[in-house]
Amino acid sequence: MSEPIRDVVIVGGGTAGWMMAAAAARFLADGQRRITLVESEAIGTVGVGEATIPPIREFLGLLGIPEAEFVAATGATMKLGIEFHGWGAPGERYIHPFGQQGRDFDGIDFHMAWLKHRAADGIGPLEDYWLSAVAARASRFAPPSADGRSPLSQLAYAYHFDASRFAAYLRRRAEDHGVVRVEGRITRVAHDGASGHVAQLHLDGGRIVTGDLFIDCSGFRSLLLGDAMKVPFRDWTHWLPCDRAVAVPSARTEPLLPLTRAIAHDAGWRWRIPLQHRTGNGLVYASGLLSDDAATARLLAALDGAAEGEPRTLSFRTGRRDRLWEGNVVALGLAGAFLEPLESTSIHLIQSGIQKLFALFPDRGFAPILTQEYNRLMAAQIDAVRDFVILHYSANGRVGEPFWDALRTMTLPDTLATRLALFREKGRVLRYDDDLFSVASWVAVLIGQGVMPTGYDPLVDALDDARVIAAMRELRGGYARVAAQLPAHGAVVQELAARG
Ligand code: FAD
Repeated sequence: MSEPIRDVVIVGGGTAGWMMAAAAARFLADGQRRITLVESEAIGTVGVGEATIPPIREFLGLLGIPEAEFVAATGATMKLGIEFHGWGAPGERYIHPFGQQGRDFDGIDFHMAWLKHRAADGIGPLEDYWLSAVAARASRFAPPSADGRSPLSQLAYAYHFDASRFAAYLRRRAEDHGVVRVEGRITRVAHDGASGHVAQLHLDGGRIVTGDLFIDCSGFRSLLLGDAMKVPFRDWTHWLPCDRAVAVPSARTEPLLPLTRAIAHDAGWRWRIPLQHRTGNGLVYASGLLSDDAATARLLAALDGAAEGEPRTLSFRTGRRDRLWEGNVVALGLAGAFLEPLESTSIHLIQSGIQKLFALFPDRGFAPILTQEYNRLMAAQIDAVRDFVILHYSANGRVGEPFWDALRTMTLPDTLATRLALFREKGRVLRYDDDLFSVASWVAVLIGQGVMPTGYDPLVDALDDARVIAAMRELRGGYARVAAQLPAHGAVVQELAARG
């Protein structure tokens, strides 16, 4: 086909559908191209997905969304990282912070110096060398400084937000910019006989929607990529055995933490996400080990504010489709892949899929090179995130609990096994092209969960020990002083929301 793409049809109006629609309205609507979104209110959306990672700010920036307006519209709060409870061992906690860790010494990663000198006087835990972590522990927040000499330049942040409000906000923007929304249930998908491409969507009531490019944002149903194009699903349940979650909001409590919490329990984990108007809570579990009723009771008993509304149970299967783009169908969101929200990566993968699709947009036809490159990039990125999520489970110290014992001893993907071997020996973490997470992120989780290397990079021995120790003490003291002077997170959010 060499005809220009005139009709882009998005199937689904959850977070993925409306992110795509808002981005398409901004970048694809050139006056000749039509953008249509089909969704069914009766089917509804998954409605969870409240925690993000820092690149979301880039996405909002590309769409020209002012921060104060966004914070006001979505009930958002700031997120400086994730606090993990009970993963290393019951009772232990650590933060995986965003932003920069310490500073390198003559090009040598900071954590290498820490590994060598950690027992020296005044050095303390690795976490004290992330301004994001030190500020978050005290419920304090400031945006990063653009001045590279300021410690504040080391901060990075994301948002917690209300998923339904986010979708509604993006919908308003998309419709204002010409996206046409069609309400209805798709009952049949018709193919073009010659190309095998999707040609028409048949809706209840006999309506038909035609298109050139279809974006499948239909959620776990995967109506187009899975059902219509028959792209197989790779199941990762053997590495990530949780298959259910129960979610319930509760009343806001103080202080307003700029942190997501992920709290391990004997059959999975629980999240706590602070928003302006409520706290989002959910319990993720393996249904073979915990019944839905027991999971719900466990979640309700753990809330730190009164429950608001009825608990909702969701089933899922972890894995991804073999290919995310097939023919004229590109899947975004749950229609293409699912990884549990331990590192808040799903919304980011939607964003990344949209950005890669725009970079490889088939404006004059579906050349195989575009599809192949998209599929290669997305698969590599999703698989790297998968390894990072698996790491949290495999590097656990919950000895004596069957669920965790099995995960600690499971056979890992080769890619993760190699990373772990490199780290265990001399603390080495290499960053690969497709990695979403930085060296500091891997180090935070590895050290946080008690994986202590037997050595450190011998390059550190070329540094002057006294100079390095003095610099580390100064850094640590500086972060503590700077964090103590930052405004309260709750006050920053309130001020932003009032301006929006
Ligand atoms: P959905 O929200 O399910 O939307 C699907 C859409 O397709 C709906 O509009 C539906 O009406 C439509 N549709 C389906 N079938 C038809 C049909 N036949 N006809 C017409 N329309 C149809 N991600 C994060 O980044 N951070 C988190 O903290 C996070 N937490 C999560 C917690 C849980 C328990 C789960 C399950 C997921 C979480 N996620 C999180 C993932 C996040 O929720 C999703 O990535 C995001 O909501 C995108 O969903 P979606 O738009 O792909 O699907």
